[in-house]
Amino acid sequence: MDNYICPCGYVYSEERGCPSMGIAAGTKFEDLPDDWVCPVCGLTKDNFGSRNEVINAAK
Ligand SMILES: [Zn+2]
Repeated sequence: MDNYICPCGYVYSEERGCPSMGIAAGTKFEDLPDDWVCPVCGLTKDNFGSRNEVINAAK
């Protein structure tokens, strides 16, 4: 299970899902609907990065 990070700092956890937006726990990031957006800032999935990518980019 991976985590994906929005530029705003919100983390989507595949393990937790996003119950407040109707996403069940265990939903893979790639299986999120294309119209799913960050619950905090409203950016689309395209703007999210995997945690490893974000960590590497910060180096
Ligand atoms: Zn966001």
